Amino acid sequence: MPQLASVETCTGCAACASICPHSAIKMITDAEGFAIPMVNSSACVECKLCEKTCPVIVPLQETGLTAPKTYAVWSEPDRQVSSSGGAFSAFARYVLTEKGVVFGAAYDDSLHVRHIEIQDIKDLPSLRGSKYIQSEIGETFKNIKIYLREGRIVLFCGTPCQVAGLKSYLKKSYDNLLTLDLICHGVPSDAVFQSYLKKISSRFAAVVDGYEFRDRNGWGFAPSVSVCGKFRPIYGVDALYMEAFNASAIFRKCCYQCCYAGLPRVGDCTLGDFWGIGRYGIPFKHDTLKGVSLVLANNAKGERMLHLLQDCFVEERTLQEALIENHNLKYPSVKNSQRERIIEDFLNPNLSLAEIDTRYKLVDHSIKAIIKNMVLKLGLFSLVKRIYNWYKVKSYGRS
Ligand SMILES: Cc1cc2nc3c(=O)[nH]c(=O)nc-3n(C[C@H](O)[C@H](O)[C@H](O)COP(=O)(O)OP(=O)(O)OC[C@H]3O[C@@H](n4cnc5c(N)ncnc54)[C@H](O)[C@@H]3O)c2cc1C
Repeated sequence: MPQLASVETCTGCAACASICPHSAIKMITDAEGFAIPMVNSSACVECKLCEKTCPVIVPLQETGLTAPKTYAVWSEPDRQVSSSGGAFSAFARYVLTEKGVVFGAAYDDSLHVRHIEIQDIKDLPSLRGSKYIQSEIGETFKNIKIYLREGRIVLFCGTPCQVAGLKSYLKKSYDNLLTLDLICHGVPSDAVFQSYLKKISSRFAAVVDGYEFRDRNGWGFAPSVSVCGKFRPIYGVDALYMEAFNASAIFRKCCYQCCYAGLPRVGDCTLGDFWGIGRYGIPFKHDTLKGVSLVLANNAKGERMLHLLQDCFVEERTLQEALIENHNLKYPSVKNSQRERIIEDFLNPNLSLAEIDTRYKLVDHSIKAIIKNMVLKLGLFSLVKRIYNWYKVKSYGRS
């Protein structure tokens, strides 16, 4: 039987299941809800192709620059509907205009997150926005190989371990493939997210039919839920999932020792949030309210593609500035000491969000936080930010 990566190190990238010529490997879910490979011994012929393809067992040789060029990027109006500056949409639009195929993570009707392909610009909204759950890869790698062999341009965006899985699966580089890896804080399991959705549905006494992980009115982490198609912001205990995400309490085991959380990167370009832009010596004379993407051009292909993007603001910055607030560009997230118990409690259908919060104190209940939430609820925070931002941009214009 092949020896695949251990439970601690397997990233669930599904390269092994995708490469197996005998379909002897299926991705199943473990007790915490993460996808792991399971080998069917009666179908396995012991060719060991899976072991040779696993990027944990055989790390990728081809990586990017250790000091990539660093850019602030935004695309208007994409950034109003994206997580940061909408850089992903700008890349996707370019590839779709060239009759290419774009692969990224989307919700299905039950709010499970899966990688899908799109070939039409009208389908771009389904890929936009960060979904802070490990997405299911399914047949993605196989389909990408077919398109690449047909000579189509393919864009793949995903977590660095997924990009590494794709490259290991393909085994050779293709000029017509562009990969974007995301700076990644870590991935929770779909099972924890689904269980959280059930808990929040019972709090609202209505089925939640949509979920957004990021601010709908600005650049931040205020999530919102949709009930009967109408979104509303959530705070405090209702937003417990994001609190647990930010506290590094619900990630896959391998995330805490992620070998991709640093430089050099695996994708042709890296996308993330340009947290702290303009605050550390080099002024940034533009509106930051709606989000600014951080893009690292990790090789010549990435650099070339970035400069082909249309209707996009691109400004070179320094790598030092990008590293200051983006910890996952330097090291993996540090494991929360209560991780196992927190995951178990999220998965327990008998525990409410309030009960979980009482046990682990993930939500900030200080007076300051309560006032901040009330201000957020009334929309005052975004109004003050808007006025400040308008003033900042205007005074730069005068200087
Ligand atoms: C799990 C996760 C953790 C992240 N952690 C950080 C971080 O610590 N620091 C940071 O700067 N940025 C992080 N990001 C990236 C950030 O949230 C934005 O996705 C990124 O800046 C791109 O934003 P955008 O405005 O260009 O495009 P958007 O339209 O917001 O980005 C969407 C792209 O992200 C992909 N995507 C969305 N959800 C997933 C998923 N679950 N798995 C794989 N791909 C997905 C979509 O396919 C699409 O290609 C993380 C993203 C994810 C998914």
